[in-house]
Amino acid sequence: MPLNIAMDGPVGAGKSTIADAVASRLGILHLDTGAMYRCAAVAALKKGLDVNDQEAMEAFCEKLHVDVLYENGSQRTLADGMDLTGEIRTQEAGMAASRIATYPGVRRAMVRAQQQVASRQSMLVDGRDICTRVLPDARVKIYLTASDEVRARRRWLQMQEKGSGESFESVLSALRERDRQDTERETDPLRIAEDAVVVDTSDMTFDESVETILRLVEAAYD
Ligand code: C5P
Repeated sequence: MPLNIAMDGPVGAGKSTIADAVASRLGILHLDTGAMYRCAAVAALKKGLDVNDQEAMEAFCEKLHVDVLYENGSQRTLADGMDLTGEIRTQEAGMAASRIATYPGVRRAMVRAQQQVASRQSMLVDGRDICTRVLPDARVKIYLTASDEVRARRRWLQMQEKGSGESFESVLSALRERDRQDTERETDPLRIAEDAVVVDTSDMTFDESVETILRLVEAAYD
């Protein structure tokens, strides 16, 4: 049986980078499910579809094949065979992903694809509904979070390194808007699963966050 670790948390909690490090220490793959929503949203935008049109988006995602491949342990995400890995990391893609993630038909298609990938091998899966919907039977469930200012600052510093002139205030307000969309949607909103352990990384270094999660995994599989 594959070993599955489920991790949820709000935007900018460091899920992706921390999950990458934890998975590599454990010698397993990391499935970033946010990348799949982003990939579907970018594919729709490329086709000129309106991401606010629920019916159109549900029909589109029902037919779309979102595939995940691994190259030297790194995830590549494809929509109908088109590799969109390099295009999904923009703020616009994140907002569009968060929009389509409110539609039940879109979530159904994504959850199905994610469960298929996770059933094939041991994985650390991160997202918003992994503990509650995608892998409700995972032995390790983690809710990774940090204060909104800390999350926004981390995101803003990352963007500055890439030469973005975005102000801290605008990054903070976009982050709060995405939190609002993710926690207030009707289908599988972001919430802390009853059996998840909350890891707040506001005052932790990256290494401390990774070690904390590794200890939780060790304890669960002891
Ligand atoms: O994690 P990331 O920021 O890349 O995810 C983009 C968006 O996809 C999130 O804001 C959220 O709305 C949606 N998402 C989701 N369920 C998941 C993963 C991501 O609704 N399991």
